[in-house]
Amino acid sequence: MTEKVRRDFCIECRKETEYFLQKKDIVKNIKDKEYIFAITVAVCAECGEEMSLPGLIDKNVQEIDEQYRTAEGLVSMDDIERLMKIYKIGKTPLSLALGFGEVTIPRYLEGQMPSKEYSDIIKVTLSSPAQMKQKLMENREKLTDAAFRKAFAAAESLESLFSVSDKMLRVIAYIFEKLEEVTPLMLQKLLYFIQGVYSALYKRPIFAEDCRAWVHGPVYPEVYELFRDFKYNPIDDARFALLEGTVDALTDDEKRVIGLVVNTFGMYGGKVLERITHNEAPWIEARKGYGDSIPSSELLPKERIMKYYILINQKYGIDTEDGLRAYIHDMLGKAS
Ligand SMILES: [Zn+2]
Repeated sequence: MTEKVRRDFCIECRKETEYFLQKKDIVKNIKDKEYIFAITVAVCAECGEEMSLPGLIDKNVQEIDEQYRTAEGLVSMDDIERLMKIYKIGKTPLSLALGFGEVTIPRYLEGQMPSKEYSDIIKVTLSSPAQMKQKLMENREKLTDAAFRKAFAAAESLESLFSVSDKMLRVIAYIFEKLEEVTPLMLQKLLYFIQGVYSALYKRPIFAEDCRAWVHGPVYPEVYELFRDFKYNPIDDARFALLEGTVDALTDDEKRVIGLVVNTFGMYGGKVLERITHNEAPWIEARKGYGDSIPSSELLPKERIMKYYILINQKYGIDTEDGLRAYIHDMLGKAS
């Protein structure tokens, strides 16, 4: 990659020179409190003096704004936009629903700094759909019926996310981050493979949920419920905005295994993945005695999945993408 050469007029050198951008700490007093902010400055490559560039002041204002908010624990404009998105509510109704004045949220979105008190209210509702429901109930008469109902339904639907474990939610969020299009069927299979590979490599499950042997392969019923409305379509779920930026709660090992599975199994559609699971011992054993299209809901014990994948690991070395690809290749070659 070639770096773009930056040039502008230096008033010291009195000509156009090359410059580079660097960070500089500045001290600022806000409301009698001293803060250190890191801002971006342009430095002339020839004389070493700072240069004033168009747009840089705006960038500095934004940098200071963001760092001040972080230092004071205040929500950002992005947080407020996320709040509107996940609860499907406009800026004015949101303002009223939170018990603020009508113009408070619109002003925050224009850049006004929120108070600590209001900021905390926004933070709580951002992470707790139950809190949002309570706020909506408290201020119901201030909202139109349509706005109230839409936001309340969104909050209820968000609450259902918490019917699965925190770890499961974060694994799913990470899959969504890595893969453009995931259907519910595909997601189910990827979760199963992630559980298999992770437990084989680390001798313990990645998440606590148990899966069941349904006609179309292993299924986590709680996850099925979460996404049943998407049917055979790619999941496009605004609820997951709630988890944005929380993928950090996964360990490096967990992320690595998810990456391995997504980069290999994740290249196939749900139906192909289903064929692979149908050729695997845990599913075949759990389905013993059931005809091809006879529904079943037998447990696929985590122990059993782990043992199977430990054997697969011994044969293929599934701690690498190549190993997993070799395994997939062999499984797809089998007649089912
Ligand atoms: Zn210069």
